[in-house]
Order: sequence, then structure tokens, then C-alpha cells
Amino acid sequence: MVEANSKDFTEIQAQWATVRGRIRQKIGDAQFKSWIKIISLKECVDGKIILSVPSAFIRTRIIEQYLDIIKSYWLVQNLKINDIEIVITEDNRSKISTKSPSEIKKVETKNKEYHKQDDIFNSISSDLDTRFTFSNFIVGKPNELAFAAARRVAESKDVPFNPLFLYGGVGLGKTHLMHAIAHEIKERKPLRRVIYMSAEKFMYYFIKALRFKNTVAFKEQFRNVDVLMIDDVQFISGKDSTQEEFFHTFNALIDQNKQLIISADKSPQDLEGIEERMRSRLGWGLVADIHPLTYELRLGILQAKEEKLAASIPPNILEFLAHKITSNVRELEGALNRLSAFSSLVGREINLDMVQDLLKDLLKSSQRKVNIEEIQKKVSQHFNVKMSDMSSSRRSRTVARPRQIAMYLSKNLTSRSLPEIGRRFGNRDHTTVIHAVKKVEELRNKDDSFDEDVQLLIRMLES
Ligand code: ADP
Ligand code: MG
Repeated sequence: MVEANSKDFTEIQAQWATVRGRIRQKIGDAQFKSWIKIISLKECVDGKIILSVPSAFIRTRIIEQYLDIIKSYWLVQNLKINDIEIVITEDNRSKISTKSPSEIKKVETKNKEYHKQDDIFNSISSDLDTRFTFSNFIVGKPNELAFAAARRVAESKDVPFNPLFLYGGVGLGKTHLMHAIAHEIKERKPLRRVIYMSAEKFMYYFIKALRFKNTVAFKEQFRNVDVLMIDDVQFISGKDSTQEEFFHTFNALIDQNKQLIISADKSPQDLEGIEERMRSRLGWGLVADIHPLTYELRLGILQAKEEKLAASIPPNILEFLAHKITSNVRELEGALNRLSAFSSLVGREINLDMVQDLLKDLLKSSQRKVNIEEIQKKVSQHFNVKMSDMSSSRRSRTVARPRQIAMYLSKNLTSRSLPEIGRRFGNRDHTTVIHAVKKVEELRNKDDSFDEDVQLLIRMLES
């Protein structure tokens, strides 16, 4: 721990001043005065910076809009910073209880036993990530149904469908949507009781209640909620007593017309180790799946996230990432953050070479076989020439250069022989192919932007 006023802390203070200066330049005076100026530096503990702000509202806004920038500017100053936390200034904490005055009074007038339960109840819901809002969620074909259903549940006065069952592969936005529902409800109807928790946590509480022979209170807690969200229910499978309890709680809530929102990695029918009656009941409401993301959606997400970063990442790099990292959004985010931190550190724009190097582990090339036709197609698309010009006798530079690149790629990415490559490019001689290969190599060494073009083509062909 670094004590205030020690030498290290003085350094941290100086870094903070520099970070603020940079941010001011980037966002302008007005924004700076409204949001950054009010932040004060509290302490630095084991590489973790603690900043404080006067209210929960400001905290949320800063986390959403500025935390990433603060982080990356700070990293430039000091590589040892591993995290930044924003807390609410202590003097103000009591003023911003999450309960309204009437609600507090209501609780106070109940008996002590109930009061105790209410505390458990309030602490039982997991923290919500303030960045997981509807406005930060990018919508496209693969997730539009899930998104629309989530919005509907959050905005409805009644219970539109029960349960809402969201499912899809890992990192596709299930948790994000659930948190977004909770944020939205808290904003629209602060008195509604919303509990969000992972299925694992649900199990943990249940087992704890069993041990203290307290299952009645346990059930009561859940039966008092308005909206219950359980994330990743596939983790409940196979645990008989938890499953049973979940089922009862679940039925009771549905009977009382309380909103339930469940997520899992599979559809209700495909969940393994879950009792048949529960499986069928889970599918009673609306089942919305999130499909694997398309290229367009991946690119859209990258573009949206890039805007919030301190460093700018060139569009061709974003396209490259969207092509290459297809598994899930978490990996896309990880890649982007790494690139942005690196770029601010070295103070240079990122190029494809650096990307390849920095993201080696993520890009573990899923190299596949390409053929000459694909190469000709991609290259002509890329340079906007006709596919037929790959074999035509035209010699103008605008078609000859792309043709040479295509020959070069055919030599390097396929196992075809030089004479065969020549034949496929309008019956040219193998010496023409050799000439093309040499020419392209020479240009790649000489001309960076030419080289980037070729690299991009290679990666697109291999992905
Ligand atoms: P899951 O719960 O399905 O495994 P998460 O909700 O945790 O996935 O999402 C992983 C990360 O990807 C989160 O940081 C989330 O904000 C982000 N994310 C997922 N889908 C989107 C989207 N459509 N738009 C913006 N961010 C997204
Ligand atoms: Mg999740």
C-alpha cells in the first residue's frame, strides 16, 4: 500500500495531473469541467488506483464514458497500474441509499426478523456492470430477437412473457442483456425488487440455507421479488436438491405473475441433466436465442467500442479483426483493448504487423487451404478489377499489378507449380510468374502501404 504523501504517491499525483491534462485536450473544456474535474485521487493500493466522485450518478457516467480513456492514458504514464476503481466519496455515501424514504420506513416498521431478511435480500443480488446497458448493446440480425425481448420485459408494465429464456454461446451478450434489463427497471421503477444472480450463487445460497435449516426464509426472499434473473442455469443441472428448490421457487414466482429471466448456453430442450418437467416449464414463455455473430455485427461492435478508446485504431485493422476473431465479443474486446493500450504506449498508430504480433495467441491461425480461383476473386475484388482481367492480355498497370499480386499469392498460398499457375492466368509462361513473384517481393520491401495490402489479402484468404 502506498501511503498518501509518500514519494510514490506524489508520483501518482503527478501522473494523475498529466492524465487529466490529456483528457482535457481530448474531450474539451466543457466536458472536462462537468465530468473529469470533479474526480479526486484517493489512493493507490498495489497498482490499483482509487478515484472518488461525489455521487453514484456521476460514477456511472464516468465509468461508461471515460474510464477506458483514463485507464489507457494512465497506462502510458505508468505501466504498473493494473486497475482503476471509482468509489463514491464517503461523506456522501449515506445520502444515496438505494431505497426511497418511504421504502425505508416500511422496512423499519416490520418486525426484526423481517428486517434481517431484507438485509439478506438486498445483499443477495449481484453487482451490475454499469457498462452493460441497452444503449451500449449493438444490435444486428443474430441478436435482434433477444434484444427486443429484453427491452420489452424492461419496459412493460405487466409481464409480457414468462419466463424470458435467453440462450446462446459464451460471450455473445446474455449477461449484458440481463444487466441492461435490471438497469432499465431500476431507472423506470426504482421500487421494483430486482434480483440478478448467477445460478452458481443461487446454489451457494441455497446450500447455505440448508445448512442453517433456514430454507423457509430462503424461499421467502425469492418470493418477495418482482423480477428474478438467474444467469447460466446450465450450472444447476445435475444438482438434485438445488434443482428441486429452483423449480419450486420458479413455479411460485410464475404463479404470482412475477417476471423471471433465465439464461443458459443451450435451449431448454437441449439442457442436459435437468429434469424433464423443469425443462418443459422453462420453455413456456419466450425462448430467444443469440446466434453466432456475423461479420457485419462484429465490425459494428468493434467500431462502437473503438470510439470510446483513447487510441484510435485504423479501419482496416478493425476489418481485419472482424474477419479473424469470430468466436465471441469478449475476445474482440480483449483484442481491441490490447491494441489500444499498446498504441498509446508506443505513441504510434497500429499497423497490421504489430497486430499480428500482439494478438498471436488470439489469431492462432485457422489456416485453411486456398485455391487459385479464390485468390483471383479476392484480389480482383480488392483492387476493383474484373475477374476476367486475371487472364486477359491487358497490360495497363491497373490490371497488371493486381494480376501479379494474385500470381504471387498463388505461388505462396497454394502448392501449385509455376507452369500451372501461368496456365491459370491466361496461359502465361512460367517465367512471367517468376517475374511477378520477384516484382511483388521487391515492392513489399520497398513500399509499406503496398505491403500492408498484401498482408491484408493473405489474412483474408487464410481466414
Ligand atoms: P455471455 O453472458 O453471453 O457469455 P456477456 O454478456 O458477458 O456474454 O458478453 C461478453 C462481452 O461482450 C461483454 O463485455 C459485453 O458487453 C460484450 N458484448 C456482447 N454482445 C455485445 C453487443 N451486441 N454489443 C456490445 N457489446 C457486446
Ligand atoms: Mg454470461
